[in-house]
Amino acid sequence: MLKSLPKITLLGDACCGCGACAARCPKSCIGMITDGCGFPTPMVNLDVCIGCGGCDSVCPAMGERPKDGAQSVLWAKSRDRGERLASSSGGVFGLLALDVLADGGVVCGAAWDEGCRHVRHVLVEDGSDLDSVMRSKYVQSSVGRKAYEGVREALRGGRRVLFSGTACQVAGMRSYLGKLADSDGFLSVDVICHGVPSPLLWEKWAAYKEVGVGAALRAVNMRSKATGWLSYSASYAYAHDAEKDVARASSAAADSCIFVDDWYMKAFLANASLRPSCFACRVKRSCGSDVTLGDFWGIQSSHPEVDYEGGVSALLCNTSKGLAAIERLKSGIEWGESSLEKVLPGNPSLVRPVVPYERRGEFMADLECGRGIDEMMAVYGFEPSLAQRVRSKLGGVKRRLKKLLGKA
Ligand SMILES: Cc1cc2nc3c(=O)[nH]c(=O)nc-3n(C[C@H](O)[C@H](O)[C@H](O)COP(=O)(O)OP(=O)(O)OC[C@H]3O[C@@H](n4cnc5c(N)ncnc54)[C@H](O)[C@@H]3O)c2cc1C
Ligand code: SF4
Ligand code: SF4
Ligand code: SF4
Repeated sequence: MLKSLPKITLLGDACCGCGACAARCPKSCIGMITDGCGFPTPMVNLDVCIGCGGCDSVCPAMGERPKDGAQSVLWAKSRDRGERLASSSGGVFGLLALDVLADGGVVCGAAWDEGCRHVRHVLVEDGSDLDSVMRSKYVQSSVGRKAYEGVREALRGGRRVLFSGTACQVAGMRSYLGKLADSDGFLSVDVICHGVPSPLLWEKWAAYKEVGVGAALRAVNMRSKATGWLSYSASYAYAHDAEKDVARASSAAADSCIFVDDWYMKAFLANASLRPSCFACRVKRSCGSDVTLGDFWGIQSSHPEVDYEGGVSALLCNTSKGLAAIERLKSGIEWGESSLEKVLPGNPSLVRPVVPYERRGEFMADLECGRGIDEMMAVYGFEPSLAQRVRSKLGGVKRRLKKLLGKA
């Protein structure tokens, strides 16, 4: 009998690289290889495939998806300034994670790997390792079979699990888990997602930075708040930097500049380096997550009463499980009611895919054919948008004012 060809082999640009198909395949005949731009992509060994359809059944890029409903929309930030500074926005993820770990649970999130060359989802079982999965890494993270199976086994063993990632990763993990995803022990958090940049561009950028400095990278912080939350910096720490500076790469000793001046960040924010699926994202507000977290950009005008120093999160509780998890944190956070109408103006990526950079095809072709970073920087300047410039300036003004007032 003729076996049917898995539909995932026909997805093309719609595939988001979540890896659920590979983790689900009973014959282990799907390998996640990297495409020409370094994005994880499934490759099916048709000689081994039995045509069972398991991969298609878990793929978040296929079929209709029910919409997520926000039961509650809040602004929120950790009361602990240190926790906020160690996070990208208001530090809510860290608090959710600590709650799960304190119960003997497991956290699965994105961490730097291989000398900051790659980002992968890892399992964390100890509070002392939590820092590795904190803060946004603007590179597509690979969610391997180990992460999928680790989450499933922890749940089967009766442990609580917190899984966090982009909406497509949450959708992939939820489909893989099936009924287990609805069990009380599983909590999923998606981040408001602008899109994920090319792992190959990051690899080349990291190598370029190392050659420029003459030392190996030891830590990267793409959301250093040393220059403020609105005007955050991309910071790089090297082998010769002091040990204490390395973990978060946020001190003055690190090689650091405001996001609007860092070429890698500019390519990301100009939508030049993103995965093709991100321009037609099918899972925004339909990944089934319990909680959605993002930066509350624009809070200065939507909630002028809130002190946003150190960062504030936009927090959406999508399910009653999500509501209960946030309820448990409430003594550790400052929060207030908000609404989608207040979140959306500063964060359209919550519901709408971004529009590709007009020369994206050319940019990615140059990357794929091996052009060096120097050459690409000379060709593609990436002027930040007006909104990004205003945000970075606002952050700087606030910082200087604080300094002045402190001196007075
Ligand atoms: C690629 C990407 C794009 C984003 N785009 C936006 C946006 O357009 N607007 C917005 O408001 N917020 C965006 N965010 C989310 C935002 O930057 C914060 O991650 C979020 O507000 C949570 O912050 P926190 O302070 O609660 O915790 P943090 O400690 O900052 O939490 C970090 C969480 O993000 C996860 N994470 C980090 N890097 C990755 C990655 N590469 N892939 C998958 N998961 C990752 C970690 O597992 C962890 O759970 C984006 C995040 C990422 C990773
Ligand atoms: S159809 Fe079944 S055996 Fe074939 S690749 Fe998909 S999951 Fe694997
Ligand atoms: S979207 Fe995910 S599950 Fe679907 S083919 Fe791509 S990697 Fe596999
Ligand atoms: S924009 Fe959509 S497809 Fe792209 S990484 Fe984010 S959730 Fe996935």
